[in-house]
Amino acid sequence: MRNVLFVASECTPFIKTGGLADVIGSLPQALKENEGVEVRVILPLYDEIPLEWRDKMEYVMSFNVPLGWRNSEASMYSLEYNNIIYYFVSNEYYFTRKGVYGYYDDGERFLFFSRAVIEALAHLDFKPDVLHAHDWQAGMAVALAKIIQPIFDMKTVMTIHNIKYQGLMPIDIFEDFFDMSREHIGGFEWNGMLNCLKSGLFHADKITTVSPSYGEEIKDPYYGEELHPFLLERSADLIGVLNGIDTKDYNPQTDPAIAVNYRSSRAKKKENKLILQEKLGLPIIAEKPLYIIITRLVEQKGLHLVQHILDDFLHEDVQCIILGTGDEEFETYFAEAAESHPNKLVTLLAFDEGVARQLYASADFFVMPSKFEPCGLAQLIALQYKTVPIVRETGGLRDTVLPFNELTGEGNGFSFTNYNADDLLATLRYSLRIYHDPIQWPVVVKNVNKSQFSWKSSARDYATIYDQLTTISV
Ligand code: ADP
Repeated sequence: MRNVLFVASECTPFIKTGGLADVIGSLPQALKENEGVEVRVILPLYDEIPLEWRDKMEYVMSFNVPLGWRNSEASMYSLEYNNIIYYFVSNEYYFTRKGVYGYYDDGERFLFFSRAVIEALAHLDFKPDVLHAHDWQAGMAVALAKIIQPIFDMKTVMTIHNIKYQGLMPIDIFEDFFDMSREHIGGFEWNGMLNCLKSGLFHADKITTVSPSYGEEIKDPYYGEELHPFLLERSADLIGVLNGIDTKDYNPQTDPAIAVNYRSSRAKKKENKLILQEKLGLPIIAEKPLYIIITRLVEQKGLHLVQHILDDFLHEDVQCIILGTGDEEFETYFAEAAESHPNKLVTLLAFDEGVARQLYASADFFVMPSKFEPCGLAQLIALQYKTVPIVRETGGLRDTVLPFNELTGEGNGFSFTNYNADDLLATLRYSLRIYHDPIQWPVVVKNVNKSQFSWKSSARDYATIYDQLTTISV
């Protein structure tokens, strides 16, 4: 039995802003059930975590967190849920704010969190063989684990869920917050800034990312967000492991959030569609092809392409629903577009898990034309709800969606290669033609129904990485 401590900034069902939370909320169970790995998870205790969870937490201990001249107190709470123990680090200053991210001192907040994780390790009755940190918010925990040398031998893994976000701070912070000699600064600095992600990557024994294709892409300047030279150097330690989803949670047969449960029945999906159309004031027509987008409204997700072709595509006999929150530019654009096309487009500016599930259950197509996509879980959830994905061939989208080929009958979706709006429009129109083709459409549906993206094989890959680290000295 290996002990692994996950360090992360979000986790379902407690707190979620994106796919990272889905992964941290499901991979530990998969590792435990399938591979016998004892995983515990440590998270910040945000005020944003609903009271129903906070009320169930037990106080564990309080301890001092030294951050240079600043000494702060942290308290730790724990909660067992679905057979996994979660630890929560609380601090009155850093985590009692609205929301999760977006503060000027986010770097400092997660530096505090990372330092608290290392302090806590000395006191906990759980001795990890591996500390597995996720994304920049946890990067400093890896660096500090290596340099401050905890009281027991521990290996480290750093997973990149999205290389775009690196947690940059002025380099002076190094002297302000770290009690360590300047000889270490090279491991923390990148392009003149203190870089939390790079600090984790530099000190980690192994680096993983969330799909094989993204693992290759980030070594290239187009995708590497300036870290590509460093990743090229660490190529031998960089492994792409495809994310899975929790197929018990995302299960249209049992999901309580959807109106009509189903396994693969198109008729029942249409019943969901009719209910949704009525709720949202769209014309109630079961046969009308329904395209949905569920996403953070940010450039990464290919929304400039969607903006470009939306009017043209809405000339077709289709309905579209966009669910998301994010950049004002996109919120305003899609809200106004919905006003201009009241019978065809609905824009819901919200982050709502229940509504998202109703959409996945009701739609025919899920559109995700990302500029880059480390793995992407939304297309996997769509497939799980038997909704056909339309994606750009990048990162995990390329690894999970095979474009439909009329000649071979293979393919569980539609895709295009270049980041180009005309190609997106052509692909959308092609999907519409196939939808109306009584011979080809059932073939696509059959392929979608066969798609499987559970955690099983990826959990094995992670367990192998832990085994290699703990049996071979690196
Ligand atoms: P990312 O992590 O980059 O946001 P992913 O596709 O990996 O993208 O994961 C997105 C997750 O967040 C999915 O579970 C998706 O259903 C969910 N999600 C995104 N936007 C919303 C929203 N507005 N309301 C509810 N869930 C959302």
